[in-house]
Amino acid sequence: MPEVSKPAPAVTPQMAPFFAAALRGELMVQQCADCGASRFPAREICPGCLSRAARWIKVSGRGEVLSFNVMHQVYHPGFAAEVPYAVVMIKLEEGPAMVSNLIGVKPHEIRCGMPVEVVFERVNDQVALPKFRPRAAG
Ligand SMILES: [Zn+2]
Repeated sequence: MPEVSKPAPAVTPQMAPFFAAALRGELMVQQCADCGASRFPAREICPGCLSRAARWIKVSGRGEVLSFNVMHQVYHPGFAAEVPYAVVMIKLEEGPAMVSNLIGVKPHEIRCGMPVEVVFERVNDQVALPKFRPRAAG
């Protein structure tokens, strides 16, 4: 069977700072320049105060598993070799949540509240994806 590559996310203008940071090995989220609330993914308007003023801030890359789902079906041939794999919702220490994958842990070992840290997986010249791995608590 020919190898099929995984789909890579499109780098939209709104998310360009996030992907540029990921290529440097940094995790960034958007922050409202008025009320200071951080959010991910990027939005035009702050859901808290409706301000349009925003900046990107570097975050620690640490967080915990908020929720997860183990995929047993092959929904895209590019992922066939990885089934079963987990899709996890990570709550970052700075507040926002992001959907990603956990590496270095078997799907049945994943627990909500598990402390994790970011690692970056290079997909192509434009895209490095933040993935997470377990870390010691604290
Ligand atoms: Zn705001």
